[in-house]
Amino acid sequence: MKVLAAVKRVVDYNVAIRVKADGSGVDTAGAKMSMNPFDEIAVEEAVRLKERGQADEVVAVSIGTSKAQDTLRTALAMGADRGVLVETDAELEPLAAAKALKAVCEREKPDLVLLGKQAIDDDSNQTGQMLAALLGWPQGVFASSVEILDGGLRVVREVDDGLETLDLTLPAVVTADLRLNEPRYASLPNIMKAKKKPIDVLGLGDVGVDPAPRLDVLRVEGPAVRPAGRMVSSVAELVEKLADEAKVI
Ligand code: AMP
Repeated sequence: MKVLAAVKRVVDYNVAIRVKADGSGVDTAGAKMSMNPFDEIAVEEAVRLKERGQADEVVAVSIGTSKAQDTLRTALAMGADRGVLVETDAELEPLAAAKALKAVCEREKPDLVLLGKQAIDDDSNQTGQMLAALLGWPQGVFASSVEILDGGLRVVREVDDGLETLDLTLPAVVTADLRLNEPRYASLPNIMKAKKKPIDVLGLGDVGVDPAPRLDVLRVEGPAVRPAGRMVSSVAELVEKLADEAKVI
């Protein structure tokens, strides 16, 4: 079985986001960038399938600038066998990313595509679902467990009122939720080994994707600054402040 894992380079989750002065987007200049955390979980799951002898090859795929090679190297250090970069300076919306991933699937013919449930930069939570629709493949999104069955896949999903279990035929698209696994840290020897693993570079023309945006971003604003909290010395003081100052009781 061949597994494709989609990995996006995003602003690191520890970085305090700055909005550009003109409100046109997030200022990523100089910000630490990392692999999207849900994609680390997707790569980890793919590598575990290989370690259990259930997958023969894990291919990591990223769409982004040449710097996304770093993200692919991280996936290779975690255990992916090779990488594919669809290189573009354009910021792709989920539909364009899904179309690029579809074209890579047509070249690579994977049995399973693992993605993160959402990218923490745009929080779209759309690419996996769109990819499944474009390919006409079954999808199991927000997976908290993945089990290979004879000729298929059992996915447990976290839904609002509990857990849903789905059996999918392969090929299929699965997106990783937080509790699917705990991704490993790449060891130094594996980071060194990853430097020698191959990365194929394609252009947007090779995958036939038009990067033109379909959405107009009107304005991006940071969250309102919250007033600092205050300590009170007793329940009576709390009740008095809620009644007289906040006027909420
Ligand atoms: P989103 O729909 O943008 O929230 O992204 C969901 C998932 O799709 C991410 O966690 C990635 O696995 C994948 N994805 C989205 N954009 C890209 C990209 N530019 N390169 C690689 N994978 C991507």
